[in-house]
Amino acid sequence: MEFRREHLRIEILDPRQGFERRQSPLEIRFDPLTGQSARVLPPGSFPPPADVDLDRLAAETRERCPFCSARVESETPRFPPDVVSEGRIRRGEALLFPNLVGYAKWSSVSVYSPERHRLPLDEITPSLLADNLATQVAFGRAVADFDTDSAWVSINANHLPPSGSSVFHPHLQGAANPFPTTVQRFLTEVEPARFREYVAAERASGERLLGSTGRIDWLAAFAPVGPGEVRAFAFEASSPEQLDPELVAELGRGLSLVLGTFAELGYQSFNLAVFGAPASPGFPLVVRAVARAYYGSLRRSDAMWSERLHWESTVDLAPEALADVARDRFASAG
Ligand SMILES: [Zn+2]
Repeated sequence: MEFRREHLRIEILDPRQGFERRQSPLEIRFDPLTGQSARVLPPGSFPPPADVDLDRLAAETRERCPFCSARVESETPRFPPDVVSEGRIRRGEALLFPNLVGYAKWSSVSVYSPERHRLPLDEITPSLLADNLATQVAFGRAVADFDTDSAWVSINANHLPPSGSSVFHPHLQGAANPFPTTVQRFLTEVEPARFREYVAAERASGERLLGSTGRIDWLAAFAPVGPGEVRAFAFEASSPEQLDPELVAELGRGLSLVLGTFAELGYQSFNLAVFGAPASPGFPLVVRAVARAYYGSLRRSDAMWSERLHWESTVDLAPEALADVARDRFASAG
């Protein structure tokens, strides 16, 4: 398994140093699974993620929030009873219902709790995550039983506006489709055995290993698709609806540690995708999470031309630095 890096040196005459000749490094990395490339710049090349006043945003949005307990029963849809008999799915505090905006043949939204309109990343506990993931697993099973063609099931998150969320109240999203997304399709072209080789190589090097939660190893992506990309693979499931309760609890523990790490690094927003390849024997369940930077009227978004149009991320947080921050959390939780 090749972890390919190319090192370039950029030379300019720098106005900040009297137009003296200055060289800076640029590293290009190639993902060992997909070949997708990423650029790793020296730390501090970009402004840090903007601070966000979650209290203020929560206060501005709470009054009319459709996911808060005062309105969630009357303002969110229900599934037809032949798909989900109760119309909505509950586990612990979590509540799942259909998405009003359908991006998939079957689209769901699940709040961690109708009572938790404001939920900073370092307060999303393993049990809040596990219960919310469990609603999505139940949604995936309900759809799989009812509509066997919609086998491409995924659990996802846009958490707060920088990640694409239009509702402030923290939630996950589920999707089940008759067709794979582009990345689902690309990853199914990877030989299933390569995922085990990839994890084995990362375990052996340890440089990007965050830790293990039992049956799942957590890694900083070698060639991240955005700041702080973390990956994990569950080899005992090939699609989210196959997760057993122990794996759901384990995913909750690991993701809680990842989100705490994002918070420590100054991020309050993230995207998540959990998916497999239902028709590919031996294909693991893939978990990917990436931090998203808050931005304001004059603060940059973390997706620029390279991310959106060249599919190549440019980050100044080295995966090894991310692993260094996360490793302590995983060790103290273990
Ligand atoms: Zn709310």
